Amino acid sequence: MLPEVEKLVVIQDRDLKISAIQKELDQLPAEEEDVREKLASDKRAVEAAKLAVQENEVAMKNLELDIQTRQDSIAKLKVQQFETRKNDEFRKMGQEIENYGNEITGLEDRELELMEKAEKLKSTLASAEAALASSQELVDEEIADIGARRKNLEAEKAELEAKRQAEAADVPDDTLDIYNRLIKSKGGLVVVPLEAGQCKGCHMKVTKSTVVAVKNEHEVTHCENCGRILYAAD
Ligand SMILES: [Zn+2]
Repeated sequence: MLPEVEKLVVIQDRDLKISAIQKELDQLPAEEEDVREKLASDKRAVEAAKLAVQENEVAMKNLELDIQTRQDSIAKLKVQQFETRKNDEFRKMGQEIENYGNEITGLEDRELELMEKAEKLKSTLASAEAALASSQELVDEEIADIGARRKNLEAEKAELEAKRQAEAADVPDDTLDIYNRLIKSKGGLVVVPLEAGQCKGCHMKVTKSTVVAVKNEHEVTHCENCGRILYAAD
């Protein structure tokens, strides 16, 4: 094989590996995003549980206010009852006091129910928070793994790039230019074997003179169909 073509084959191998690594690196942010997305439903569960606890607390406070209002009314009525001298007024007030008393009993029953509910809501919140914490731990681990992978890939890529740079310095500039242009326009393999008269890049038969030129190895020879650089397959 022509020495410069041999070097191009090595460079091509580096380039393929570098671009595969780059592809993998480019996928990492999306992978991180997917991992973080796992927390979303746990976070929503915690938020919902917190909201339920708060709403229940507000409901209990409102009940307490309602009870207090009725207790104030009862106290006021009792003073008025004490001051009145009219029997029917006294009786009417007594009835009102009784009504308020009944209402208070109902409200207190409701308050007890809400207090029991509060206990359940708090334990639901605690479980949701524990689930989120354990998911967070797993997610942190996975994110750390991805970070480690990124570091390895970047190191591997830097090493390949350094080797490629040194190897490219050994190839004549015009040959390297042609190679770089082919890579840009075709991508993938651009230095390919010629097998039984067939270019392994475009899979077309080449002319006799091209076959001879490749065999003679006097100069870099291209496939006349696709322009790829050819070398003789063993
Ligand atoms: Zn070809």
